[in-house]
Amino acid sequence: MVKADGYGLGAEAAAKALAQAGARVFFAATSAEALAVRAAIGEGPQILVLNGPSESDVAQIGAAKLTPVLNSLPQIELWSARGPAALHIDTGMNRLGVGPEELAAAAVALKEVTLALVMSHLACSADAKHPKNAEQRARFIDAASLFPKAPLSIAATGGSLLGADYHFDLVRIGVGLYGSGSLDADNPRLATAATVDAPILQVRDVEAGETFGYGATFTAPKKMRTATVAIGYADGFLRSLGGRGYGVLAGQKRPILGRVSMDYTILDVTGCAEAQAGAMVEFLGANAHVDDVAHLAGTAAYEVLTTFAGTVRRTGSRA
Ligand SMILES: *Cc1c(COP(=O)(O)O)cnc(C)c1O
Repeated sequence: MVKADGYGLGAEAAAKALAQAGARVFFAATSAEALAVRAAIGEGPQILVLNGPSESDVAQIGAAKLTPVLNSLPQIELWSARGPAALHIDTGMNRLGVGPEELAAAAVALKEVTLALVMSHLACSADAKHPKNAEQRARFIDAASLFPKAPLSIAATGGSLLGADYHFDLVRIGVGLYGSGSLDADNPRLATAATVDAPILQVRDVEAGETFGYGATFTAPKKMRTATVAIGYADGFLRSLGGRGYGVLAGQKRPILGRVSMDYTILDVTGCAEAQAGAMVEFLGANAHVDDVAHLAGTAAYEVLTTFAGTVRRTGSRA
Protein backbone atom coordinates (compact mmCIF):
# COMPACT_ATOMS: atom_id res chain seq x y z
CA MET A 1 0.00 0.00 0.00
CA VAL A 2 1.62 3.25 -1.15
CA LYS A 3 -1.34 5.65 -0.93
CA ALA A 4 -1.05 9.05 0.75
CA ASP A 5 2.43 9.44 -0.70
CA GLY A 6 3.54 6.19 0.85
CA TYR A 7 2.03 7.14 4.24
CA GLY A 8 4.07 10.31 4.11
CA LEU A 9 7.42 8.65 3.42
CA GLY A 10 7.34 9.25 -0.35
CA ALA A 11 5.37 6.94 -2.63
CA GLU A 12 8.03 6.58 -5.29
CA ALA A 13 10.85 5.74 -2.87
CA ALA A 14 8.57 3.40 -0.93
CA ALA A 15 7.34 1.66 -4.09
CA LYS A 16 10.89 1.18 -5.37
CA ALA A 17 12.04 -0.28 -2.06
CA LEU A 18 9.02 -2.57 -1.87
CA ALA A 19 9.42 -3.71 -5.49
CA GLN A 20 13.06 -4.49 -4.79
CA ALA A 21 11.98 -6.49 -1.75
CA GLY A 22 9.68 -8.55 -3.96
CA ALA A 23 6.25 -6.89 -3.76
CA ARG A 24 4.32 -7.51 -7.00
CA VAL A 25 0.97 -5.85 -6.23
CA PHE A 26 0.64 -2.18 -5.27
CA PHE A 27 -2.31 -0.07 -4.19
CA ALA A 28 -2.71 3.69 -4.55
CA ALA A 29 -5.81 5.73 -3.75
CA THR A 30 -5.94 7.85 -6.90
CA SER A 31 -4.98 7.33 -10.53
CA ALA A 32 -2.50 10.23 -10.24
CA GLU A 33 -0.72 8.44 -7.40
CA ALA A 34 -0.80 5.18 -9.33
CA LEU A 35 0.73 6.81 -12.43
CA ALA A 36 3.61 8.17 -10.35
CA VAL A 37 4.17 4.70 -8.91
CA ARG A 38 4.06 3.19 -12.43
CA ALA A 39 6.74 5.65 -13.53
CA ALA A 40 8.88 4.68 -10.52
CA ILE A 41 8.64 0.89 -10.80
CA GLY A 42 7.88 0.34 -14.48
CA GLU A 43 5.67 -2.19 -16.21
CA GLY A 44 5.24 -5.54 -14.57
CA PRO A 45 3.92 -5.03 -11.07
CA GLN A 46 0.17 -4.70 -10.81
CA ILE A 47 -0.98 -1.29 -9.53
CA LEU A 48 -4.54 -0.97 -8.26
CA VAL A 49 -6.46 2.28 -7.90
CA LEU A 50 -8.60 2.14 -4.76
CA ASN A 51 -10.86 5.07 -5.68
CA GLY A 52 -11.84 3.36 -8.92
CA PRO A 53 -12.35 5.08 -12.27
CA SER A 54 -14.13 8.37 -12.88
CA GLU A 55 -15.21 9.91 -16.19
CA SER A 56 -12.06 12.00 -16.20
CA ASP A 57 -9.47 9.28 -15.64
CA VAL A 58 -10.97 6.06 -16.95
CA ALA A 59 -9.09 6.25 -20.26
CA GLN A 60 -5.81 7.03 -18.53
CA ILE A 61 -6.23 4.09 -16.14
CA GLY A 62 -6.65 1.79 -19.11
CA ALA A 63 -3.74 3.29 -21.06
CA ALA A 64 -1.31 2.97 -18.13
CA LYS A 65 -2.45 -0.63 -17.50
CA LEU A 66 -3.54 0.27 -14.00
CA THR A 67 -6.12 -1.97 -12.36
CA PRO A 68 -9.14 -0.06 -11.05
CA VAL A 69 -10.97 -1.18 -7.94
CA LEU A 70 -14.64 -1.05 -8.93
CA ASN A 71 -16.58 0.19 -5.92
CA SER A 72 -20.10 0.65 -7.29
CA LEU A 73 -22.42 -0.32 -10.12
CA PRO A 74 -21.81 2.99 -11.94
CA GLN A 75 -18.05 2.37 -11.79
CA ILE A 76 -18.54 -1.16 -13.15
CA GLU A 77 -20.54 0.30 -16.02
CA LEU A 78 -17.98 3.03 -16.68
CA TRP A 79 -15.12 0.55 -16.85
CA SER A 80 -17.17 -1.89 -18.95
CA ALA A 81 -14.52 -4.35 -20.14
CA ARG A 82 -11.43 -2.25 -20.73
CA GLY A 83 -9.20 -4.76 -18.94
CA PRO A 84 -8.82 -6.62 -15.67
CA ALA A 85 -10.32 -4.97 -12.59
CA ALA A 86 -10.81 -5.61 -8.91
CA LEU A 87 -14.21 -5.65 -7.25
CA HIS A 88 -14.74 -4.13 -3.81
CA ILE A 89 -17.59 -5.66 -1.85
CA ASP A 90 -18.93 -3.82 1.16
CA THR A 91 -19.35 -6.20 4.10
CA GLY A 92 -20.33 -3.73 6.79
CA MET A 93 -17.98 -0.76 6.80
CA ASN A 94 -20.35 1.24 4.61
CA ARG A 95 -17.60 3.32 3.10
CA LEU A 96 -16.86 1.98 -0.37
CA GLY A 97 -17.93 -1.11 -2.25
CA VAL A 98 -20.86 -2.86 -3.87
CA GLY A 99 -23.51 -3.63 -1.28
CA PRO A 100 -25.21 -7.00 -0.76
CA GLU A 101 -28.36 -5.99 -2.63
CA GLU A 102 -26.29 -5.01 -5.69
CA LEU A 103 -24.13 -8.12 -5.89
CA ALA A 104 -26.23 -10.11 -8.34
CA ALA A 105 -26.36 -7.16 -10.75
CA ALA A 106 -22.61 -6.67 -10.34
CA ALA A 107 -21.93 -10.31 -11.20
CA VAL A 108 -23.95 -9.96 -14.41
CA ALA A 109 -22.29 -6.67 -15.36
CA LEU A 110 -18.83 -8.15 -14.75
CA LYS A 111 -19.32 -11.22 -16.97
CA GLU A 112 -16.78 -10.02 -19.55
CA VAL A 113 -14.27 -8.66 -17.01
CA THR A 114 -11.32 -10.63 -15.66
CA LEU A 115 -11.41 -10.11 -11.91
CA ALA A 116 -7.87 -9.61 -10.67
CA LEU A 117 -9.17 -9.48 -7.10
CA VAL A 118 -12.34 -9.51 -5.06
CA MET A 119 -11.78 -7.53 -1.89
CA SER A 120 -13.44 -6.09 1.17
CA HIS A 121 -12.21 -3.98 4.06
CA LEU A 122 -12.52 -4.56 7.81
CA ALA A 123 -13.90 -1.80 10.01
CA CYS A 124 -12.59 -3.01 13.38
CA SER A 125 -9.47 -5.06 12.71
CA ALA A 126 -7.40 -2.95 15.12
CA ASP A 127 -9.43 -4.67 17.86
CA ALA A 128 -8.81 -8.42 17.61
CA LYS A 129 -11.76 -9.16 19.93
CA HIS A 130 -14.33 -7.14 18.02
CA PRO A 131 -17.21 -9.38 16.84
CA LYS A 132 -17.49 -7.38 13.62
CA ASN A 133 -14.30 -9.01 12.30
CA ALA A 134 -15.80 -12.51 12.09
CA GLU A 135 -19.11 -11.09 10.91
CA GLN A 136 -17.48 -9.27 7.99
CA ARG A 137 -15.37 -12.32 7.14
CA ALA A 138 -18.48 -14.51 6.95
CA ARG A 139 -20.30 -11.99 4.76
CA PHE A 140 -17.23 -11.77 2.53
CA ILE A 141 -17.01 -15.52 1.98
CA ASP A 142 -20.70 -15.59 1.23
CA ALA A 143 -20.54 -12.73 -1.28
CA ALA A 144 -17.34 -13.96 -2.92
CA SER A 145 -18.99 -17.28 -3.80
CA LEU A 146 -20.51 -15.42 -6.77
CA PHE A 147 -16.97 -14.95 -8.13
CA PRO A 148 -15.41 -18.38 -7.70
CA LYS A 149 -12.38 -17.78 -9.94
CA ALA A 150 -11.17 -14.52 -8.40
CA PRO A 151 -8.41 -14.27 -5.80
CA LEU A 152 -9.67 -12.85 -2.50
CA SER A 153 -8.45 -10.22 -0.04
CA ILE A 154 -9.94 -8.77 3.14
CA ALA A 155 -6.97 -7.94 5.39
CA ALA A 156 -5.01 -4.74 5.80
CA THR A 157 -2.41 -4.50 8.58
CA GLY A 158 -4.90 -5.17 11.36
CA GLY A 159 -6.52 -8.06 9.54
CA SER A 160 -3.14 -9.60 8.82
CA LEU A 161 -2.47 -9.69 12.56
CA LEU A 162 -5.82 -11.41 13.19
CA GLY A 163 -4.34 -14.62 11.81
CA ALA A 164 -4.34 -16.89 8.76
CA ASP A 165 -8.16 -17.05 8.64
CA TYR A 166 -8.07 -13.50 7.37
CA HIS A 167 -5.23 -13.77 4.87
CA PHE A 168 -7.00 -15.37 1.86
CA ASP A 169 -4.91 -14.84 -1.33
CA LEU A 170 -3.51 -11.36 -0.74
CA VAL A 171 -2.99 -9.05 2.23
CA ARG A 172 -3.04 -5.30 1.68
CA ILE A 173 -0.57 -4.14 4.28
CA GLY A 174 -0.22 -0.39 4.64
CA VAL A 175 0.70 1.19 7.95
CA GLY A 176 2.49 -1.97 9.06
CA LEU A 177 5.07 -1.43 6.32
CA TYR A 178 5.70 1.99 7.79
CA GLY A 179 6.22 0.86 11.37
CA SER A 180 2.84 0.89 13.10
CA GLY A 181 1.51 -2.38 14.42
CA SER A 182 -1.43 -3.47 16.42
CA LEU A 183 -1.81 -1.62 19.70
CA ASP A 184 -2.62 -4.96 21.24
CA ALA A 185 -0.02 -5.54 23.98
CA ASP A 186 0.29 -9.20 22.89
CA ASN A 187 1.78 -8.21 19.55
CA PRO A 188 5.37 -7.02 19.26
CA ARG A 189 6.04 -3.50 18.08
CA LEU A 190 6.94 -3.32 14.39
CA ALA A 191 10.31 -2.02 13.27
CA THR A 192 10.64 1.69 12.62
CA ALA A 193 10.45 2.85 9.01
CA ALA A 194 10.50 6.62 9.47
CA THR A 195 12.67 8.88 11.59
CA VAL A 196 12.20 12.59 12.23
CA ASP A 197 15.01 14.57 13.88
CA ALA A 198 15.34 18.31 14.47
CA PRO A 199 18.20 20.45 15.79
CA ILE A 200 18.37 22.41 19.04
CA LEU A 201 18.50 26.14 18.28
CA GLN A 202 19.08 27.44 21.78
CA VAL A 203 19.59 26.23 25.35
CA ARG A 204 18.35 28.33 28.29
CA ASP A 205 18.65 28.24 32.07
CA VAL A 206 15.43 29.40 33.67
CA GLU A 207 14.44 30.20 37.22
CA ALA A 208 11.57 28.63 39.13
CA GLY A 209 8.31 30.43 38.37
CA GLU A 210 9.16 31.24 34.74
CA THR A 211 6.66 30.15 32.10
CA PHE A 212 7.16 28.72 28.61
CA GLY A 213 5.72 29.45 25.21
CA TYR A 214 2.32 30.69 24.03
CA GLY A 215 -0.34 30.84 26.66
CA ALA A 216 2.28 30.38 29.38
CA THR A 217 0.75 26.98 30.03
CA PHE A 218 3.76 25.51 31.87
CA THR A 219 5.45 27.05 34.91
CA ALA A 220 8.91 25.90 36.03
CA PRO A 221 8.59 24.31 39.49
CA LYS A 222 12.34 24.68 40.00
CA LYS A 223 15.41 25.95 38.21
CA MET A 224 15.46 24.21 34.82
CA ARG A 225 17.51 23.91 31.66
CA THR A 226 15.46 23.97 28.49
CA ALA A 227 16.18 23.51 24.79
CA THR A 228 14.29 25.22 21.98
CA VAL A 229 14.15 22.83 19.02
CA ALA A 230 13.44 23.68 15.39
CA ILE A 231 10.26 21.65 14.94
CA GLY A 232 6.65 22.76 15.10
CA TYR A 233 3.20 22.14 13.75
CA ALA A 234 4.17 23.72 10.41
CA ASP A 235 6.51 20.74 10.04
CA GLY A 236 3.66 18.38 10.74
CA PHE A 237 4.57 17.92 14.39
CA LEU A 238 1.14 17.68 15.96
CA ARG A 239 0.14 20.56 18.21
CA SER A 240 -1.70 18.12 20.45
CA LEU A 241 1.70 16.86 21.65
CA GLY A 242 2.16 20.09 23.62
CA GLY A 243 2.61 19.24 27.30
CA ARG A 244 2.30 15.51 26.48
CA GLY A 245 4.94 14.43 23.97
CA TYR A 246 8.70 14.22 24.11
CA GLY A 247 11.90 14.37 22.09
CA VAL A 248 14.74 11.92 22.63
CA LEU A 249 18.23 13.26 23.31
CA ALA A 250 21.17 11.23 24.60
CA GLY A 251 18.95 8.18 24.93
CA GLN A 252 16.37 9.80 27.19
CA LYS A 253 12.86 11.15 26.71
CA ARG A 254 12.81 14.93 27.22
CA PRO A 255 9.29 16.21 27.92
CA ILE A 256 7.73 18.97 25.84
CA LEU A 257 7.11 22.05 28.00
CA GLY A 258 3.96 24.00 27.14
CA ARG A 259 2.57 24.35 23.66
CA VAL A 260 4.10 23.32 20.37
CA SER A 261 4.38 26.45 18.24
CA MET A 262 4.60 26.85 14.47
CA ASP A 263 8.34 26.26 14.09
CA TYR A 264 9.55 25.65 17.65
CA THR A 265 9.12 23.23 20.52
CA ILE A 266 10.62 23.62 24.02
CA LEU A 267 12.01 20.59 25.85
CA ASP A 268 13.09 20.01 29.42
CA VAL A 269 16.80 19.09 29.18
CA THR A 270 17.66 19.67 32.82
CA GLY A 271 20.87 17.80 33.69
CA CYS A 272 21.64 16.81 30.09
CA ALA A 273 25.17 17.78 29.11
CA GLU A 274 24.51 16.80 25.47
CA ALA A 275 21.90 19.54 25.14
CA GLN A 276 23.80 22.05 23.00
CA ALA A 277 22.80 24.21 20.06
CA GLY A 278 23.03 22.06 16.94
CA ALA A 279 22.48 18.72 18.68
CA MET A 280 19.80 16.64 16.97
CA VAL A 281 16.69 15.52 18.85
CA GLU A 282 14.62 12.53 17.72
CA PHE A 283 10.86 13.04 17.58
CA LEU A 284 9.94 9.92 15.63
CA GLY A 285 11.96 6.75 15.18
CA ALA A 286 13.38 3.78 17.03
CA ASN A 287 13.34 5.70 20.33
CA ALA A 288 10.11 7.59 19.73
CA HIS A 289 7.87 4.85 18.32
CA VAL A 290 5.15 6.06 15.99
CA ASP A 291 2.50 4.22 18.02
CA ASP A 292 3.65 5.91 21.26
CA VAL A 293 3.68 9.31 19.65
CA ALA A 294 0.22 8.71 18.19
CA HIS A 295 -1.12 7.60 21.56
CA LEU A 296 0.23 10.73 23.28
CA ALA A 297 -1.19 12.93 20.53
CA GLY A 298 -4.60 11.33 20.92
CA THR A 299 -4.61 10.08 17.34
CA ALA A 300 -3.53 7.17 15.13
CA ALA A 301 -0.11 6.42 13.62
CA TYR A 302 -1.68 7.07 10.21
CA GLU A 303 -2.19 10.71 11.09
CA VAL A 304 1.24 11.15 12.65
CA LEU A 305 2.94 9.79 9.52
CA THR A 306 0.83 11.54 6.91
CA THR A 307 0.86 14.88 8.75
CA PHE A 308 4.63 14.92 8.46
CA ALA A 309 4.16 14.32 4.73
CA GLY A 310 5.94 16.82 2.54
CA THR A 311 6.75 19.17 5.40
CA VAL A 312 9.95 17.58 6.62
CA ARG A 313 13.01 17.34 4.44
CA ARG A 314 13.48 13.77 3.33
CA THR A 315 16.93 12.29 3.53
CA GLY A 316 15.97 8.98 1.95
CA SER A 317 16.49 5.42 3.01
CA ARG A 318 19.25 4.66 5.47
CA ALA A 319 19.29 1.04 4.36
C1 LIG B 1 -5.64 2.02 3.49
C2 LIG B 1 -6.19 0.72 3.09
C3 LIG B 1 -5.49 -0.45 3.35
C4 LIG B 1 -4.23 -0.48 4.20
O1 LIG B 1 -4.60 -0.27 5.52
P1 LIG B 1 -3.53 -0.30 6.72
O2 LIG B 1 -4.37 -0.27 7.93
O3 LIG B 1 -2.71 0.94 6.55
O4 LIG B 1 -2.72 -1.52 6.59
C5 LIG B 1 -5.99 -1.64 2.85
N1 LIG B 1 -7.13 -1.66 2.14
C6 LIG B 1 -7.85 -0.55 1.88
C7 LIG B 1 -9.11 -0.66 1.11
C8 LIG B 1 -7.41 0.68 2.36
O5 LIG B 1 -8.14 1.77 2.13
